Amino acid sequence: MRGWFGAMGAVALAVACAKVPITGRTQYNVVPEPLMRSLGKSSYADMLRGVRVERKTEDAQILNQVGAKISRVANQPDYEWDYTLIEDDQINAWCLPGGYIGFYTGILPVLRHEAGMAFVMGHEVGHAVAHHGAERLTQQLTLLGGLAGLSLALDSETELTPQQRGIVLGALGVGAEVGVMLPFSRMHESEADVVGAMYMARAGYPPEESITVWDRMSRQTGGSGVPPFLSTHPSDESRQKNLREWMPQANKRYERNKLPNDTTEKRW
Ligand SMILES: [Zn+2]
Repeated sequence: MRGWFGAMGAVALAVACAKVPITGRTQYNVVPEPLMRSLGKSSYADMLRGVRVERKTEDAQILNQVGAKISRVANQPDYEWDYTLIEDDQINAWCLPGGYIGFYTGILPVLRHEAGMAFVMGHEVGHAVAHHGAERLTQQLTLLGGLAGLSLALDSETELTPQQRGIVLGALGVGAEVGVMLPFSRMHESEADVVGAMYMARAGYPPEESITVWDRMSRQTGGSGVPPFLSTHPSDESRQKNLREWMPQANKRYERNKLPNDTTEKRW
């Protein structure tokens, strides 16, 4: 009897524990990936409802080009990959599970150039491929009425309740309403930074730019009225220290994949 229970326990653990790419951290996550991608898709529709979008501008084209390069190295065959440039002063960007990416025009001057965009995109994609949203939803499953309730809401005609919707968006890092926004933990932010630096390097962008982007970000948003995007992120020193530790590995990848053009030429 004891042996049987032991075997069952091992199976449950194998299902729930996964390894994060690049950092190799073991995580506890019970929300299946297809369900996360469905949540990503419906949340994308939510995020794009009522916003002004740039489709044909040069900036939108650059977003798509950088996106194509980052998505190639992210190697997620089940992702649909879509990139939207949203006309809005917010200094923000996100990637939902399934590869649905949003950048706000307000973040462009902080990115300054393609390499800066490549890092922030790599960082946001890092949150998605490292299953950070699934990890956070796992912690909140009782509030959502369990996994079965969540799957049912997506499969049937029934919509998620506004409260459930708020929890999902918060877990995916795009919640906007006060009290719903749940900051990603420091650990998630550091992990996304590492994935972002590695992805940008493999895509041919100089990874040192990851550090200068966060420099500009803190200068831009410093002082009073810290926007939610920054307040959810760890302190600049710890962030830079963490990135520096990974820089030798990232630089090796960059040297092998360097793009022919200067990706640090000022654009915004
Ligand atoms: Zn982040």
